[in-house]
Amino acid sequence: MKHLLSIDDLDRAGIERILDRAASFAEVAGREIKKVPALRGRTVVNLFYEASTRTSSSFELAAKRLSADVVSVRADSSSVTKGESLKDTIATLSAYDPAAIVIRSPHAGAARLVSRWTEAAVVNAGDGKHEHPTQALLDVFTLRERLGALDGARIWIVGDVLHSRVARSDILAFTRMGAHVTVCGPPTLIPRGIEALGCAVEPTLARLEEADVVYVLRMQHERMTEAFVPSLREYAMRYQVGAARLRPGQLLMHPGPVNRGVELSAEAIDSPQALISQQVEAGVVVRMAVLYELLAGSGAVPESAVAEAEAVLAS
Ligand code: ASP
Repeated sequence: MKHLLSIDDLDRAGIERILDRAASFAEVAGREIKKVPALRGRTVVNLFYEASTRTSSSFELAAKRLSADVVSVRADSSSVTKGESLKDTIATLSAYDPAAIVIRSPHAGAARLVSRWTEAAVVNAGDGKHEHPTQALLDVFTLRERLGALDGARIWIVGDVLHSRVARSDILAFTRMGAHVTVCGPPTLIPRGIEALGCAVEPTLARLEEADVVYVLRMQHERMTEAFVPSLREYAMRYQVGAARLRPGQLLMHPGPVNRGVELSAEAIDSPQALISQQVEAGVVVRMAVLYELLAGSGAVPESAVAEAEAVLAS
């Protein structure tokens, strides 16, 4: 695999290989020295055209823990604001001979375009409403740590599915790992034909107790060009997941950032059933594993560096 643009780039075995690798990086993350010398001398470029806290910081930390040199470019402080096109920006950054380019863009398909314009491995860190594959991998990692396996787990994805790249990548990843996925939200926020991805659809939370895992999505105001719900108050009344709506034993997830009091109540966020901080923690090791998978396996990294990294992991 040269790039990670979509969960469709991975079969179940590929997902498992990345998550096993992430688990070994998690073990290193518990040590005093958290670095692995795999990408020494290589450059990773993070190119973010959209706001991000978790994804950009965890990719940066992941590349640094693999000993890479990291350049982080944000659209609001780069020549992008002066009108430089994406293609020109990639040509400019290619002068640094990056081993990998991590890109977040408001446009669906942007990561795939970048992969045609560069020799570097490209990682899609979220492209518009399309996909966010590393989020899905860290979600599977978090659930696997908790449940052992996803086979047969009933996962409900609740909220603004229409504008959610996380929902699309999660449906693909969760079903590939053997889970049963149901999406739930007001009909205006559920894309028509979503069942084709292998999930069921529920219009209300009435049967939420059937879920083992409740995965709540953020209302994506920035992508809404019209009124999809009568009001946020009414949305919250019908679809907010509050502590009282969760049955004991159900797990709660959210990709962040959370609109407190809209899709989730404050008590639900802080309840022991919530795995939200575990998801953030998983972000670094899963993104390390993705960069490692793309670069160490492809000849982009000298064999001696791979051997040294393997020795650190085995020590
Ligand atoms: N952080 C996730 C994303 O970038 C989820 C969200 O923004 O709602 O897609």
